[in-house]
Amino acid sequence: MPRPIEALIHADALTHNIARARSAAPDARVWAVVKANAYGHGIERAYEALRGADGFALLDLDEAERVRALGWRGPILLLEGAFEARDLELCSRLNLWHVVHDEAQIDWLAMHKTHQPHRVFLKLNSGMNRLGFTVSAFRAAWARLNALPQVDEISLMTHFSDADGERGIAHQAALFAQAAQDLPGERSLCNSAATLRFAHLPEVRSDWVRPGIMTYGSAPDFPAHDIAHWGLLPTMTLRSKLIGTQVLAAGDSVGYGSTFSAEQPMRIGIVACGYADGYPRHCGTGTPVLVNGVRTRMVGRVSMDMLTVDLTPVPDADLGSEVTLWGNGPAGSMLPIDEVAQAAGTVGYELMCALARRVPVTVTA
Ligand SMILES: *Cc1c(COP(=O)(O)O)cnc(C)c1O
Repeated sequence: MPRPIEALIHADALTHNIARARSAAPDARVWAVVKANAYGHGIERAYEALRGADGFALLDLDEAERVRALGWRGPILLLEGAFEARDLELCSRLNLWHVVHDEAQIDWLAMHKTHQPHRVFLKLNSGMNRLGFTVSAFRAAWARLNALPQVDEISLMTHFSDADGERGIAHQAALFAQAAQDLPGERSLCNSAATLRFAHLPEVRSDWVRPGIMTYGSAPDFPAHDIAHWGLLPTMTLRSKLIGTQVLAAGDSVGYGSTFSAEQPMRIGIVACGYADGYPRHCGTGTPVLVNGVRTRMVGRVSMDMLTVDLTPVPDADLGSEVTLWGNGPAGSMLPIDEVAQAAGTVGYELMCALARRVPVTVTA
């Protein structure tokens, strides 16, 4: 028998979450953001469920080729644009739309030989200070692009640094409005957090929204809100089984470094899941976990192939009992990936992207 760990990708939940983005921004078209191999879900596994989106947004050229190979004829957007001049050949061949955030990319376009002019998304740096033209350079970049025969439509975009937090987006939205004033072209502003929290506001009206993390069943502003609050469903379940149990006496310790000691006699379960499966090693004692759908806690350190759980709330648990590390458990139980991420001092994004290759994955409804 194979090791009992497995991951499930919930196709209906992916479809539901995209529909949720649509309902949050009813006038916008929706990019399904599938960078990082669909946030660890697998582009090929998620594709059917995400086809209801209006386009796919990603970074890697090989991911764009994979989406075309699946038969997608609609829009594909390269969120970081070309990395070097010859990437534009693939853009021409596969009809990829691409972000332009730097003068060098305009130089490459000016030298590019193509029969088919490209659709580009001109990116404003409105304060994130990663990619994009400053407000003072933005309109000159637009004029340069507009003069190129290689360029067809120019859309305008920016990215928010604080859509999930207290600072919000007003300061960046105002800069965007100023830089984009009177320029023609479609607008794209909102990531997941902005789509859920602000897409209804006129100042962030978008022709295209770019929901990533919400598509994959994680709340962008957790712990302020959870997925239930936003009407999102988990799209990835990581589950395994108990492969052993131990009875501890008061004072007995568990695992490497003896970081947990029993205060009273207790039973623990040994789970076939460790950091080599993508479960975060930073999760310590107290991290939530479901055994037979009942909520309990991890105890001790996560090791490479195993972790240990407190069986006190689940006295009937035994070898073979089902353990839900995150996602959907038996009998309607559920453990949001965001709670596990929080226990590891990180975000849901990192956990789903880090699902290890050795974990077998099945797509279910
Ligand atoms: C990744 C990304 C998104 C999606 O962000 P989420 O927080 O996952 O919704 C949107 N826009 C750009 C430019 C991105 O790189």
